[in-house]
Amino acid sequence: MALINENFLKLKAGYLFPEIARRVKAFTEGNPEAAQRLIRCGIGDVTEALPEAVRYAMHEAVDELGNRSTFKGYGPEQGYDFLRNAIADNDYKARGLPIEADEIFISDGSKCDTGNILDIFGQGNTIAITDPVYPVYVDTNVMIGNTGEADENGAYAGLVYLKCTPENGFVPDIPQEKADLIYLCYPNNPTGAVATRPQLEAWVKYARENGSVLLYDAAYEAFIQDPTIPHSIFEIEGARDCAIEFRSFSKNGGFTGVRCAYVVIPKSLMGRKKNGEAQALHPLWSRRHSTKFNGASYIVQKGAEALYTDEGKSQTKALIEHYMGNAALLVEACKNAGLSVFGGVNAPYVWVGCPAGLTSWQMFDKMLNEANVVITPGSGFGSAGEGYFRISAFNSRANVEEVCRRIAALK
Ligand SMILES: *Cc1c(COP(=O)(O)O)cnc(C)c1O
Repeated sequence: MALINENFLKLKAGYLFPEIARRVKAFTEGNPEAAQRLIRCGIGDVTEALPEAVRYAMHEAVDELGNRSTFKGYGPEQGYDFLRNAIADNDYKARGLPIEADEIFISDGSKCDTGNILDIFGQGNTIAITDPVYPVYVDTNVMIGNTGEADENGAYAGLVYLKCTPENGFVPDIPQEKADLIYLCYPNNPTGAVATRPQLEAWVKYARENGSVLLYDAAYEAFIQDPTIPHSIFEIEGARDCAIEFRSFSKNGGFTGVRCAYVVIPKSLMGRKKNGEAQALHPLWSRRHSTKFNGASYIVQKGAEALYTDEGKSQTKALIEHYMGNAALLVEACKNAGLSVFGGVNAPYVWVGCPAGLTSWQMFDKMLNEANVVITPGSGFGSAGEGYFRISAFNSRANVEEVCRRIAALK
């Protein structure tokens, strides 16, 4: 028999979303009538239609493929120049940030990118993650063998957990110890927190002093409303020498089902070999991409490019305004209900303290049974999430207004 990767056996079985699905299924089977009223604010998936500009561009691309003279087969693994240029010009150069098109790698999603990036790093790095955290960062490190076993609280040996609490604004304090890879996600999923410029400056300083690499997930940057909050880690001086940025069209462009994202690896970003010699990371990721990936679909890249047209920009803006309008209503409803509320101002997630000492899962059951609303228990994102729950603003306005009424009616 073939040997297996036993690291997979360290993964915790009761993963968050399957457990939510199990409880929702049990509830709907036992309460068919209440099941009709069920509103899902759990999983962070967008709900509104794909922007028209994207649909037109994708239709056109399909027709190009339907004509022998404009047909496209394999494209460049790193992405088509039309999209890499649009990204470099609009997301970086227009903001005065020195990122070149060939430092941008197009992919089919940030989930894959944040997981796959570990391919280019060696064994033995100290990995720091926030607590609470987007579970992908943790589980991909477990799978590749960067951790020991999980303890009874689900914390893995070998990982450095950076606590995010109301006291630090859900942005981790700079640790005493040295970490080699640090995952930061701002605006944050699940807490909806944002990192200020001084906070990011402190992290860039730390990374440069310690030779660490920041893995900066900016999937939600388009939701930032406050003009003082950085959209990119490359707004911080010196970040080109210590950071990789992940961006996705999933949440701003409604691409969760279409699939398109990108990674920015500056050519000046270095890692080191065992013998201490510096080695640029950019060629390693480029080689990885060419070897293990054959490029995102032409149709999808044409759709993503259309997000950068004038129509695309105004349609994206309307989507963001819709979701942030939902977030504002949810924040207000929770405040009026006397709950402590975080996030929801520069991010589509509202992070709420559970009332009267309820645990996250107790609050999940209360919301399910009394309000017929599915939320996400904070403890599913890490032990520091215990005592909180997350409400997603990705929904129709009518559903959000109904959720607000039900929150007001909670006992
Ligand atoms: C939704 C999300 C992404 C985007 O993932 P895709 O694979 O591009 O859909 C990335 N990071 C976080 C934290 C997310 O919540």
